Amino acid sequence: MESRIKAIHQWYYERKLSCEELTRCYLQRIQREQPRLNAYITCTQEHALRQARTVDGKLSRKERLMPLEGIPMTLKDNISTRGIRTTCASKMLHEYVPIYDAFVWQRLNHQNAVLLGKTNLDEFAMGSSGETSYFGPARNPVRVDRAPGGSSSGTAAAVGGNLAVYGLGSDTGGSIRQPAAFCGVVGVKPTYGAVSRRGLIAHASGLDQIGPIAATVTDAALVMDAISCWDKEDATSLPDQRISCLKDLESGIKGLRFGVVWEYHHGITMEVADALEQAAEALEKLGAVRVELKLPALQCALPVYYVLACAQAASNLGRYDGVRFGRRTDRYDGIDDLIRRSRGEGFGKEVKHRILLGTYVLSEGYYDAYYQKAQTLREEIKGAFYQAFSHCDFLLSPTAAGTAYRIGEKEKCVDHYQTDICTVPANLAGLPALSAPCGFDGEGLPIGMQLTGPKMSEPLLLRVARSFERETEGSYQVGKNWEDQVWNMN
Ligand code: GLN
Repeated sequence: MESRIKAIHQWYYERKLSCEELTRCYLQRIQREQPRLNAYITCTQEHALRQARTVDGKLSRKERLMPLEGIPMTLKDNISTRGIRTTCASKMLHEYVPIYDAFVWQRLNHQNAVLLGKTNLDEFAMGSSGETSYFGPARNPVRVDRAPGGSSSGTAAAVGGNLAVYGLGSDTGGSIRQPAAFCGVVGVKPTYGAVSRRGLIAHASGLDQIGPIAATVTDAALVMDAISCWDKEDATSLPDQRISCLKDLESGIKGLRFGVVWEYHHGITMEVADALEQAAEALEKLGAVRVELKLPALQCALPVYYVLACAQAASNLGRYDGVRFGRRTDRYDGIDDLIRRSRGEGFGKEVKHRILLGTYVLSEGYYDAYYQKAQTLREEIKGAFYQAFSHCDFLLSPTAAGTAYRIGEKEKCVDHYQTDICTVPANLAGLPALSAPCGFDGEGLPIGMQLTGPKMSEPLLLRVARSFERETEGSYQVGKNWEDQVWNMN
């Protein structure tokens, strides 16, 4: 299937199905699957049906639809939605209702996107498995004893389990790509600044980006085109950099050079290595040329990421004091006690852990040794990528070293941190990267390949992923029976 979004529009135009019927079908599926997958935190049924009726009105007047109009979708619950609670999967914000919309949601809402609800995540997007959510972990639709990855756990589980056609996630160190890989779907982390962060509740502002998770490459490209544009109210948004991902999507990859970087292959499982080798061969068959590269600077990416991300998180989360922001404790004795108790009760273990780490590396006497040093190394990593792209057009690597692990399997937080080893470099360098399905392990769990390119190369990366998807006839997509699931409910 090339595009679920296009297929749905076709059904609408041919009057096979109304937008309201399709929306009801997805709402029913969510209700039925919620106990199994825990993908959603909030379901926005009334909003979805209202939006669907607007779209049906347009269809009955024979009006043309905008590219994402009437498509049932979801947002990670750290993306602000006016009048709809936005929890960040934290007790701290579990009753918070924003008074404004995130820029990306303004864009999609303007297209009459049908918002089904807000999806589960690791608390404040800190985690790699979905397990740190205050609302309990989401589960992998391919096998429910497995983690869906994180932190955009619910969004990937919802798209992989056909509880939404597409969704938006956020990626600070891999949170779109890694869950996309674990759930067998496509996830794109855009260039830093290509998509506005306004209204995304901050984790680490110098690394965070919003991006799409979708079942097919074409759908991811359609969503990218809808959300990537300059936002004058986000100081980090890149002006005049509209990209068109859809335009050359089918043009093939003949003559492109791709780099296989030795450092990314450290510690990966045999099955992931095999799938990657097959993917490389498929790209060669399509006319691309392989070059082998070494980028030693990447070896320090993980510690650099955790120093910078924790420091920025500690600073961003300072605002939740129970006075102006965040849930206030019930009983307290004076202002200091109020703040201490509100923060102590409102944040979960992993968030506290990071606030402590971040505060430590920013404290006097340690700032130079940790934060400043990490910044210097970050520049080296950027430089290494810059060098690499003088030898090739994009890099091919695994998205994760292994496949979805069991919920509860990794006890120590450092074991979770290790799983981000392949994804954090792109965030540190501000580069676009995507994950697309490229195989299955012996247990049928999806394997993802990661493509990383120079700034604003999203169209190229999606073109490569689309060529691969076409060449392999979509055989690594999950949920091929999605149409039956829709029709059986009608
Ligand atoms: N897993 C990484 C972390 O825990 C990345 C999180 C993210 O990208 N939001 O920090």
